[in-house]
Amino acid sequence: MITKEILQIRSDIENNLRKMLARAVMVTELDVFALPCGCSGITVNVRGLELDDIEVFEEQMLSFFKEVASRLEIPSSFIFARLVPGSSVVAAINWRVLCDRCYPEFAIASGKTPRPDIYIMHFERRGQKGKGKKR
Ligand SMILES: [Zn+2]
Repeated sequence: MITKEILQIRSDIENNLRKMLARAVMVTELDVFALPCGCSGITVNVRGLELDDIEVFEEQMLSFFKEVASRLEIPSSFIFARLVPGSSVVAAINWRVLCDRCYPEFAIASGKTPRPDIYIMHFERRGQKGKGKKR
């Protein structure tokens, strides 16, 4: 992954969301992260996006977000929106590659909102894809 690519992807996500919602949405920052536990992924900070938008356009957004993951060469096994707690404002979209320690925490959760600040768009249970530990 090179900086030029992530700049392009930031702008593609912004344009795609704007087109989809016919409204000004901003992607203020695209971050790559790695956590001490072993989780890693991408965070896309957004302004102007609401949980309602995701619920209405979930299918289209998800297929676009999966495409983004493949462009970034990361698995699209876990995609979620992070909400401003106690509101329906979407603060960020996350693609997270879960480590073995964090995976069970989400695998046992049921429903789309295991925590008040998380709305799960896509979660692949392990064994479903037989891809497990690669990469
Ligand atoms: Zn972890």
